[in-house]
Amino acid sequence: MGELAELFAPERIAVIGATEREGSVGRAIMDNLVTDFDGEVVPVNPNYNEVLGLPCVPEVADADADLAVVVVPPHIAVDAVREAGEAGVGSAVVITAGFGETGSEGANRERELTDVAAEYDLDLVGPNSLGIMSTPNGMNATFGPENAEPGSMSFMSQSGAFITAVLDWANDEGIGFKDVVSLGNKAVLDESDFVREWGDDPDTDVVIGYLEGIEHGREFIDAAREVTGDTPIVLVKSGRTDAGAQAASSHTGTIAGSEQAYEAGLDQAGVIRAESVQELFDAAQMLANQPLPDGDDVAVITNAGGPGVMSTDAVGESGLSMASFSEETLAAFEEKLPEEGNIYNPVDIVGDADIDRFRDALDVALGDGNVGMALVLSCPTAVLDYEDLAEATVEMREKHGKPVAACFMGGERVAPAAEILGEAGIPNYFDPARAVGALDALRRYRGISEREYEAPTAFDVDRERAREVLESVRGRDDNRLGVEAMGLLDAYGIETPAGAIVDSPTAAEEAAADVDGDVVMKIVSPDILHKSDIGGVKVGVADEDVYDAYEDLVTRARNYQPDATILGVQVQEMVDLDSGVETIVGVNRDPQFGPLLMFGLGGIFVEILEDTTFRVAPVSEREATEMTEEIKTAPLLRGARGRDPVDRGGIVETIQRLSQLVTDFPAILELDVNPLVATSDGVKAVDVRLTVDPDEL
Ligand code: ADP
Ligand code: MG
Repeated sequence: MGELAELFAPERIAVIGATEREGSVGRAIMDNLVTDFDGEVVPVNPNYNEVLGLPCVPEVADADADLAVVVVPPHIAVDAVREAGEAGVGSAVVITAGFGETGSEGANRERELTDVAAEYDLDLVGPNSLGIMSTPNGMNATFGPENAEPGSMSFMSQSGAFITAVLDWANDEGIGFKDVVSLGNKAVLDESDFVREWGDDPDTDVVIGYLEGIEHGREFIDAAREVTGDTPIVLVKSGRTDAGAQAASSHTGTIAGSEQAYEAGLDQAGVIRAESVQELFDAAQMLANQPLPDGDDVAVITNAGGPGVMSTDAVGESGLSMASFSEETLAAFEEKLPEEGNIYNPVDIVGDADIDRFRDALDVALGDGNVGMALVLSCPTAVLDYEDLAEATVEMREKHGKPVAACFMGGERVAPAAEILGEAGIPNYFDPARAVGALDALRRYRGISEREYEAPTAFDVDRERAREVLESVRGRDDNRLGVEAMGLLDAYGIETPAGAIVDSPTAAEEAAADVDGDVVMKIVSPDILHKSDIGGVKVGVADEDVYDAYEDLVTRARNYQPDATILGVQVQEMVDLDSGVETIVGVNRDPQFGPLLMFGLGGIFVEILEDTTFRVAPVSEREATEMTEEIKTAPLLRGARGRDPVDRGGIVETIQRLSQLVTDFPAILELDVNPLVATSDGVKAVDVRLTVDPDEL
C-alpha cells in the first residue's frame, strides 16, 4: 500500500457528527462502520455519551484516531476538519455537502477546507462524498445501502449515487472490489492521487473509474503512465456528446475542444476508455481475471453456425483477428470433427457435439501457437450439458493459460454454468459481440503495457527572439498576430519561405527581385484573419505585376474594412503546391489538459474533411509520428497516385518544435500553421496565425 495507507487501512476511525438519529447520514455511516470494520470506531459528538453502544467522545482530540469521517453540517465542517488536523489525524473523509457544488458561499468554504487540509497535510476525500470503502479490513465508511464484496478492482467515482447502483448490481453478479472511493468535489485528493495509490497497491489488479472531469490533465497523464505498465486503468468519462458540438464547429482555431483533449489525454495516459458502464465492467473483469494473451488472434469454437458468423463479424470490427490454424491443428480437427463440420475458424463442431468433442476441439485450438485466445460459443442442444461444458472450458483455460470468453446462449439453463465460469473468472455473455469486446480489452491493454514513453526532444531554439515576437502583441486590442509573426517559427527552427513584409509598391518590387521566380503576395492586417476570403492572397505574381498587385491588395482590404489597420504586404517565395500536400498544425489551450496539438490535412480541406488528430503537448517523437500516421488521409503523405511521398520526418519535427514552443510559452493561447506545405524535399510553414495573452508573457 502507498501513501494513503491511513485512509484505507486506519486503525481508529473518528466519526465526527455520529448520531443514532434514524434516517440521518451520521447514523447510516455508524451502522455501516460497526458492521464489519476490523478496527475501532469512535463516535464524536458533544451531545451524546454513547452512539450505538459505543462510547462517544465530545471532541475529535479525544478520539486518538487516524481517520476522521466528517458528517457535521456545512457551517461547522471546516472547523471539524481543522480540529482533526490539530489532533494529529492524518486523513479525512468529508461527507458533508454544501461546498463548491452550491454557489459562491460554498465555493469559499471549499477553499477554506483546501487551505486547512494543506496546513495540516491532510489526505482528504470530498467534500460532498458518499464516503470510502476498503474490503480487506471491512471498512465501509459510506452512507450507502450496500457494502462491497472483496475483490481486486479498486473503483473511484465522481458520482456517489453511481457507486450505490454499481454495488447493488455487482453484489448480485459476484463482482468484488478492493477499495471504493466516492471522489466528491475533489478539493484535495483527486483521480491522480488514487491512480498513484492503487498503482502501488499489490491488492489492486485493475483501477476503474467513472469521471465527469479531470482537473489537472497533465498531472493525470503523468500519474497514469507510471501505473499502466503493471495495472490497467479503465475509465468511463461522461460528457462525450460535446464531441458532436465540437466537431460541428469547423473553424480551424476552435476545432480542438475539450472532448478531443480528453480523448487524446486519456489515450496518452494509457487509460482504456470505456464508452459505457457495461464496457467498463466487461473490460475490467477480463483484465482482473485473465492472463494477457501473446497475440491478438482468436479461435472460435462453436456448435452453431449462425452465432459463429456473428462472432466473426464482431472480431472483424474489433482490433482482434480470426486466427489461422497451423497445419497440425487442421489435421487434428480433420480427424476429430465430423465431415459436415468446419475445421477453419470459426470451428463448427456441429449441433450434435457432445462434451468430449467440445473439449477436444478447444484443446486443439488453444494448443495452436497461432491462437492467442478463444471464444467458446454454444447453443443449447439435447446432447450437451452446459455445466459440463463450463467445467471443460475452465479446464482448458487452466491447461493452456490463454484467455477465454464464453457465450453459452440461452436463458434459465445458463445460470449454473455461468456460475462455474464466473468462479474461474471467465465471463459468459449471451451476445458474441460483447464477449469479443471483452477479449478486445486484453489486446488494448497489452498494447498499453508494452508502451515505452520517451521524453519529448528538446530542440535548440532561440527563445529570446521568440519572446520578442510575442511581445509585439502588446498594444493590439485583439491579441492576435498573423504572418508578421513568422519570425516566431524561424526562432524555433521551423522553415518558412523566403520573403519580406513591405509597405509600398516599390518596396514590393525590390523584395520580389530578391526572390527567384514568381512570388506570392498577401495582405498583412490584424483585422483580416482569413486573407484569401477577401482576395488578400495572390499566388504566382510575375515581377512586372508586383506593383499593381500591391495596390490591388490594399484596395481590397480597404473595401473590406475601411478602417482596417494595414501593416503592409508580404512578398513571399512560391512553394510547390503541385507536388506538395497542404497540412495544418494547430494548437489550442484546453482548460484541463493545457496545450492541445492538432494535425490534419490543411488548406481548405481542414474544414471540409475534419480529418484531424490531437495530442496533449508536449509530445514525444513517437507521438508526433503517430499523428501523421493516423489521419484518414495519411496515404496522401505516403505518396498516393504516383506522387512522391512527402517529407514526413519534416512534419514530425515541425509538430515537435511547435509542441516545444507552446510548452515554453503558456502565453500562446492559440496557434495555427495553415498551411504547412510538405513536399518530397521538406516542409515549409507558409502561413501563421496566433492569439497571445500578453499578461502571461
Ligand atoms: P489565409 O489562410 O489567410 O487565406 P494563406 O497564407 O494560408 O492565407 O494563403 C492561402 C492559400 O494560398 C494557401 O492555403 C496556399 O494554398 C496558397 N499559398 C499561400 N502562400 C503560398 C506560397 N508561398 N506558395 C504557394 N501557395 C501559397
Ligand atoms: Mg492560411
